[in-house]
Amino acid sequence: MRIFNCKADALVGFVLCHALAVLALFPWFFSWTGVILLVAGILLFGALGINVGFHRLITHRGFSCPLWLERTLAVLGTCSLQFSPALWVAVHRCHHHYADEEKDPHSPLRGFFWAHFGWLLMRSGDMKSRPLIERYAKDVMRDPLYALLERRRNWMNLSFLIWLMFFLAGYAGAIASGETCARLCSLVPASWSGVGRYERYSSGTRRGR
Ligand SMILES: [Zn+2]
Repeated sequence: MRIFNCKADALVGFVLCHALAVLALFPWFFSWTGVILLVAGILLFGALGINVGFHRLITHRGFSCPLWLERTLAVLGTCSLQFSPALWVAVHRCHHHYADEEKDPHSPLRGFFWAHFGWLLMRSGDMKSRPLIERYAKDVMRDPLYALLERRRNWMNLSFLIWLMFFLAGYAGAIASGETCARLCSLVPASWSGVGRYERYSSGTRRGR
């Protein structure tokens, strides 16, 4: 589906997440448990999943750890809805290859909107997943789990499944403790927290892998 060259699914998800997050401003959707879960979500999905898992570990191989831990971090990163592990890695390695140049997938030369989040929401010839992964993330695709997540958008289905489980667990807890269901409102912005973090890399200097 295509609307004005936007990725309709990404755009709908982006708008929906932020619209739902606004509910947390209303007193009847607010709870301090929700605030705590918001911070926990930022740390879990953003800091651990994206920064440590996707970025430092899988993209740059800055350290090593047992495979089960790497895959756990990858699944946490996947919940941030910033592509599959393989495509994220491919985009980021491409970014380092052409940092801040025209071919950088989130090059600032294309304007503030593009560098900040336009590259996530708009279609671009440079962002076709297959050629990018073929060139920059073949090693990642050798892992059967990452290959499975890449196929047929399984990564997105997995994210929604984990979100649903997270929400149901929080909702059950809320009912048990007599609180409101503000946990959903805390979960949604947390899942997108990595976008801001990811955007920072777009202004980084070129580095080798
Ligand atoms: Zn990097």
